[in-house]
Formats: sequence, C-alpha cells, structure tokens
Amino acid sequence: MSPLTLRFDNSFARDLPDFAVPWQPAQAPEPSLVFVNRALGGELGIPEASWQHPDAAAWWSGRVLPEGAQPVAQAYAGHQFGGFSPQLGDGRALLIGEVINTLGQRRDLAFKGSGRTPFSRGGDGKAAVGPMLREAVMGEAMHALGIPTTRALAVAATGESIFREQALPGAVLTRVASSHLRVGTFQYFAARNEHERVRQLADYAIARHDPDLLQADNHYLKLLQRVSDRQARLIAQWMGVGFIHGVMNTDNMTISGETIDYGPCAFMEAFDPRATFSSIDRQGRYAYGNQPGIARWNLARLAETLLPHIHSDSDQAVQQATDVIERFAPAFQAAWLSTFRAKLGLAAPTGETADNAASTDAADTALIEALLALLHTQTVDFTLGFRRLADALERPAAWLDLFAEPEAAKAWLGQWRARLSPQPGDTSATAARLRQVNPLVIPRNHLVEEALEAASQDARLEPFETLLAAVRHPFADNAEDGPFADPAPRDVAERHRTFCGT
Ligand code: AMP
Ligand code: MG
Repeated sequence: MSPLTLRFDNSFARDLPDFAVPWQPAQAPEPSLVFVNRALGGELGIPEASWQHPDAAAWWSGRVLPEGAQPVAQAYAGHQFGGFSPQLGDGRALLIGEVINTLGQRRDLAFKGSGRTPFSRGGDGKAAVGPMLREAVMGEAMHALGIPTTRALAVAATGESIFREQALPGAVLTRVASSHLRVGTFQYFAARNEHERVRQLADYAIARHDPDLLQADNHYLKLLQRVSDRQARLIAQWMGVGFIHGVMNTDNMTISGETIDYGPCAFMEAFDPRATFSSIDRQGRYAYGNQPGIARWNLARLAETLLPHIHSDSDQAVQQATDVIERFAPAFQAAWLSTFRAKLGLAAPTGETADNAASTDAADTALIEALLALLHTQTVDFTLGFRRLADALERPAAWLDLFAEPEAAKAWLGQWRARLSPQPGDTSATAARLRQVNPLVIPRNHLVEEALEAASQDARLEPFETLLAAVRHPFADNAEDGPFADPAPRDVAERHRTFCGT
C-alpha cells in the first residue's frame, strides 16, 4: 500500500459486482513516468509533491496501488464497424476505483495497458508509449477546447517491450472519466437477455449521471433522451473543431457524453466531409460527415437494450424509444447550428416570431454551408479557414490568401459581413470574440506523429511536451502561434494515417 491518499468510493465495484471481475494489474518491471497531469491531479486531491515521490512511477504503473483502490475489469459488448461482439470488456484496462474530487464530483480512475484480464481474448493486455501519449495529448487538447472528454492523469513507461509490427516500449495510462459506462455496457447484458441486469445498470447510470431523473416517471426513456442530447452536443462540438474520432463503435460511446478512446483519431486539415484517418476504416464508416448518423445509429442500439424497461407493451416501448431517436437529428442540427454560428460570430435570433427565427436559421445554415463548400472545393485548412475570419474583418487578404481562387471567397465574405453588420459591437470586439471560439492551435497530425515518434523511439520527450503546452492554449494570440498553427505540407497531410492504438 502506498502513502498516496485519495478519497475512494468504489460504487461500481460495490453496487454492480456482476458487471466486472476483480483483477490485479501486471507488474511493470521498471516503471518511469513520461507524462503527469498535475492540474488534473490537483482536482483529484493528489498533492503536487507526490509526483516527485520515489514510488510515483510504481503507483501510476500499477505496481503499488493507492489505498482504497479496488481494481476490476469491466464487462461490455459492442458493435464494431457495424458487427456485434457480445463480449469485449476491459481486455487491457482496469477500473481501479472512483475518487471524489475536490469539487465533490465522482471520477473513475482506470488503467489502460495494465496487462491481460479475463476479457483479453487473443490480446496481450498491453499498450505502447506512443498511443498512450496520443491519448494524453488529444484529451488535453479537447479539454482545452472546451469539449467533454476523458483525460489522462499519467502515463508510465513500463520498462518492457511489447510486440506489434515491431518491438515498442510499453506503457500504462491512467485515465480519468466521469464514468466508463458505455452503450456497450448496456448491450452486454441485453444480448444475454438478462434484462434485470440492464435495469440495474440503468438505475446506476441515472443515479450517477442524471440523479434528477430518479423521481421522474418513465426515467429509462428519459435516460435515453439525456444520453441522446449529450451525444448531439458532443458530436456538434467535434464537428466544430474538425475532430474525427475514427472508431465510433458502441463500446466507444459513453453514457456521460465524454469523448473516450483516442485511437485512430485526428483533427482534419483541409476540409473534406469524407475525411477518415483510420487505416482500418476502409469504407469510411466513421468519416467526419458520418459522425452524426453513426451517433444516432449507436443510440438506437442503446434504445434497444432499454425497451423492456420503457414500456411493458413492446409496441409502445418501440414507439416511445423511436420518438426519442428521431429527435436526435433535430437536436444535433440545433447544436451544430449553434456551434457554427458562434464560429462565425452570428447571434441566434431572439424575440422573433417562430417563422422569422426559422428563416434566420435557414439563412445562417446556408451561409455556414456555403463557407464549408468553399473550404472543401478549394482544399482550405478547416482550422485556419475559420480562425482567420477574425483577421478578415480588418484585413480581408489575411483570410483570402488561404484560397487559390479568392473571387468566390470574396463574395462569401461580403455576405457574411452583411449578416454581421446589424449586430452590435465594434469590429475589434467581434474579432476578439471570434478568436475565443475558433482555435489557432489544434494537435496537428504531423506534429503529433513527430512527437510520439521521438518519445517512443528515442525516449525524447521534449517535442511531446512542447506540443502539449501549445495545444493547452488553443485560442492563443496569433503572435504566439509558432509552428503549431501551420497546416502540414500537402504531401504529408495526404499520407497521414493513424493506426488503431493498440
Ligand atoms: P479499442 O479498439 O481500444 O476500443 O478496444 C476494443 C476491444 O479490444 C476492448 O475490449 C479492448 O479491451 C480490447 N483490446 C484492445 N487491445 C487489446 C490488447 N492489446 N489486449 C487485450 N485486449 C485488447
Ligand atoms: Mg474502446
């Protein structure tokens, strides 16, 4: 037992013993910390000084568990690329417990890469330094962008080699999440026709994420509605920063509405709704533009698991669940419009008649889509295409320079400025507001790759640390951008592929 004291309260292991298997992490032979998240640690009540403790690497690699930890491997199923696997589960992960943070919030602490479990199937239960640092940097970037996400607390290199296509340094990541409940967790018991277990899980999920529903009637239906609303907002936020998750399998979709499992994910460079980065997504199932449709599909799978609890009459249950699922598209559309309106500095209509509001919505949607079409046809960088609009207010060339054929862009700029002009606020205030929503710095793929390669192959962490520092300030002033704001050279961007982070 370590002297690291955390306020554990392990509700999942206690209340849902049939949903997980008690299990111990593998012993890393020679652990060393390669990433620590002091700010997040502070929120969890981890004293700053503890990261310097001689045993810190032992704690965060699973050699020595903090007192109160109760590691379990969680069961879940899932649709992967559309095909159902009734048994996935934590094949290389362990929930080590739940900590009540300094804000009184319950947070899961989980290891990833901590060795084989009863759910490992053919896998080795291990993870490599590169993919775990990718998860860390992507999560920090998303958090800084204001997008709900699980986050890395620490990454420890284990001192052992793991074997993929080549030998790679092994690692254990500690992940913090508001929970690890997934759509696939519900599917696990539904697929076994263990409906009482599904009910137990739904009750647990409500108590944890939507406690205000405990007293509501038909709260299972309302849980579905909440999950759907959270996902609608989350996916709209992803779309707003050009993020492509890459593996939106149902086991990678949370009930909490946090982004989880950064594997073959990437931020898009040149705008293309068909963009994918995953080498295993050959059909483009999880392409940028498909993400809302896939979210809806996944939510329908969640709905199926809840049917017996929504209504005793199965036709009624299907009808009510279908109504919720059908509300996903308009909810997403509204969240999308609100996200992109903010990106263009457009105020949502207020105090107007419903008809007028609807026509403003339609006009704004058309304006946004016209810009996206321009970015697409002229292969303009998505991030800069929005960011430089702030500069364009005073110096149109700053933005028009991004376009090979600026005439069409110029016409769009005129329409946008005409839409902006009736709004209050001077130009510099509008520009400042735009810079607070349109990031300058995203984790650009080529820089992420470079940083991970240096860390993995040469144990050189400096490029990773510099990148991390940059993505933590995505809305930085132009003056501070350095190399992190520049798109990849075109040939590099075209070659880019991420591989399933095993
Ligand atoms: P992922 O693609 O990371 O979301 O993982 C999908 C499933 O494969 C989960 O059940 C993982 O636990 C399992 N898995 C992935 N990599 C490994 C590994 N190296 N060893 C054992 N199980 C793994
Ligand atoms: Mg996963």
